Amino acid sequence: MSRSLAFDSELASGKPRSARHDPCPFCAREQLTDILAEEDDRIWLKNKYPVLRDTEMTVVVETAAHEGDITNYTPAAWQRILAFAWDKWQRMSAQGRFRSVILYRNFGPVSGGSIRHPHMQIIGLKAIDYMQAVRPSQLDGAVLWEDGDVRVTLSDDPVGGFHEFNFRLEKERSLAVWADRIRELVCHVTSPAGGTCDSYNLFFYPAAQGVCKVVPRGVTGPLLMGYGLTQAPAAAEQERVRRELASIWGGQRGE
Ligand SMILES: [Zn+2]
Repeated sequence: MSRSLAFDSELASGKPRSARHDPCPFCAREQLTDILAEEDDRIWLKNKYPVLRDTEMTVVVETAAHEGDITNYTPAAWQRILAFAWDKWQRMSAQGRFRSVILYRNFGPVSGGSIRHPHMQIIGLKAIDYMQAVRPSQLDGAVLWEDGDVRVTLSDDPVGGFHEFNFRLEKERSLAVWADRIRELVCHVTSPAGGTCDSYNLFFYPAAQGVCKVVPRGVTGPLLMGYGLTQAPAAAEQERVRRELASIWGGQRGE
């Protein structure tokens, strides 16, 4: 089965880009069309530039604030945003029209995003089940934090990044805890203490009630580009990360 999505370059050429200082389409809210759902200032709508063939592309606009991000939302605001996006992802997945449904989020100059305004993308794939190429071990790893419903791990079998943090939600009732741990990690990796990373992605997978992988981004390594080879943190680096995160998660499992 092919794992390539056909990309429409002609359609893409019309897309607005924040790097080019194009006007932000998500700030001009009265001009948005094909809205699927709204809740407070959150909007789920069809992507105006569906550049991937054999897909249905939708966007979750997280807030009316152009400069919003996980790092400046209140914990409650991010909980509501994540719950809204998670619900729409579940809803699209349950429709039965797609082989698989992707939920992901870009932030920063090397994350692959083109619009600064905080948003997530939910994409239904009609021909590809992306989970066929994802190993369970890639969504797990050394435990950094856990309670009964949420487990946070550092990948020792990453999909494509170096430090990949997996947030596994076992019970829907703990969606707020899941949101909190994700927010704390993003705040940490973008802070001076965590390396001042300026770009990251969130990738979601349909395992348990949902696995969110947070990937701080840098330049993509050549061994991955050329050979599909990933590089995982060695034991000493895993231990260093575990100790670093103990400063925000209390040094022990659970609360
Ligand atoms: Zn905007």
